[in-house]
Amino acid sequence: MAGRRHRVTVIPGDGIGPEVSAAMRVVVDAAAAGIDWVERRAGSAAVAEGDELLPEETLDSIRETRVAIKGPITTPVGSGFRSVNVALRQELDLFAAVRPARSLPGVTTRHGDVDLVVIRENTEDLYRGIEFAPGTPEAEALREELRKLADFEVRPDAGVTLKPISVDGTRRVVRFAFDYAKANGRRRITLGHKATIMPTSDGLFLRTAMEDTIDRDGVAFEDLQIDHLTAELVRRPARFDVLLLPNLYGDILSDLCAGLVGGLGLIPGANIGWEYAVFEPVHGSAPDIAGQGKANPIAMILSGAMLLRHLAQTDAARRVERAVDDVLRAGRVRTPDLGGSSSTTEVGEAIARAVTPD
Ligand code: NAD
Repeated sequence: MAGRRHRVTVIPGDGIGPEVSAAMRVVVDAAAAGIDWVERRAGSAAVAEGDELLPEETLDSIRETRVAIKGPITTPVGSGFRSVNVALRQELDLFAAVRPARSLPGVTTRHGDVDLVVIRENTEDLYRGIEFAPGTPEAEALREELRKLADFEVRPDAGVTLKPISVDGTRRVVRFAFDYAKANGRRRITLGHKATIMPTSDGLFLRTAMEDTIDRDGVAFEDLQIDHLTAELVRRPARFDVLLLPNLYGDILSDLCAGLVGGLGLIPGANIGWEYAVFEPVHGSAPDIAGQGKANPIAMILSGAMLLRHLAQTDAARRVERAVDDVLRAGRVRTPDLGGSSSTTEVGEAIARAVTPD
């Protein structure tokens, strides 16, 4: 399997991150010969070494290798600093999150025929971090300005988060979604929104997508109100192919889709921009099970498969996905979230052994 080598930045992350990252590396190394891992820190591992949460050295490494894979990173609640995950997406302009959810063999769920992809706008919306805490001079100034501008009355004890959605920000993720659909044999894009209630943000997202002149090349397009879409998703998930969503809805519905196919331990993800790509599982750092060897590494391993596909190592990506399917189908080696008693390492090693030779 001689050929091009690829340098890939790997960030183990917090909580269960180092455990699932180690398992992912074993599997990817079994499937593809050309990966040189460049390990960098972020999150509490970086802080423990006296560094910032997202060290410049880590960002520089991603800028140099252009491709990274990361474990989850804990965001302390209400501590005032931006989530490392959100910061990374914004710093590197990773504007599209891609989260495939498919029914896996041997994992019993209510619906056995799910095969969809969530494409989430990743940089705008309520996640832009434009926050006004109640009682601060900034919040007071904002209230005053809103009153002057349009007679909007905001209560003095209100916290305010702004929801910017732009034409440019929308257009690029719409184009990405159509390109993705065409490249991956997907036939239909369903856009979710609440344009009736938020015509200037969600409405703009919808109108921009409808008016875009991109060559749709046989990919059908429809839109649904987000509440209706959510109900349909739970009732008849097989009806959906690609879901195109603004940031917040995309975050929530990708966890819902994880639930549809057997849980957070199974769903991989990618954050993609024009220049860089960062792969990561959808799940968080799971502090409740960290350090116990119980975490399911499959979401991280399938994120590794997405990374291989991005590097045009399509055969290696397929071998990883097949190995995951084979181990799940056999049903002997499973972590506790899937009803088994195997450890993270045992699942990783079983999948690595199931990877067929080139
Ligand atoms: P979580 O995804 O960490 O955990 C939710 C539940 O799912 C927990 O019961 C956990 O045990 C379980 N779970 C998650 N991953 C699992 C796996 N691989 N195997 C088995 N069970 C698994 O969500 P949370 O508890 O809301 O968040 C914990 C921390 O992670 C927070 O600080 C949050 O901000 C952070 N987070 C980070 C990312 C990221 O790095 N991209 C994403 C989501 C949450």
